[in-house]
Amino acid sequence: MYNFFAVFESTGISYRMGTSRKGLPKLFSEGYGYGFHSAGKSQRGQGYWQCDKSKTNNYCPGRIVLKNNQMIPRGCHSHPPDPSKY
Ligand SMILES: [Zn+2]
Repeated sequence: MYNFFAVFESTGISYRMGTSRKGLPKLFSEGYGYGFHSAGKSQRGQGYWQCDKSKTNNYCPGRIVLKNNQMIPRGCHSHPPDPSKY
């Protein structure tokens, strides 16, 4: 279902990066899936990964902020992880 091209670790947590069937960047970690959002022009090169369930599961606030080449988890997921899917 997903095409993985990178596995890496940041601040002790392992991540897998890849693309969806539509070619969109995807990030997976600990049973959660994320889609990328740019932070805008004022923060060039920065951005964040928003939980896939942000729109479907009680507006899950879980996200991972990309800052100084480090992945920083923010917010608590409003749903359990799904390791079988990711
Ligand atoms: Zn979530």
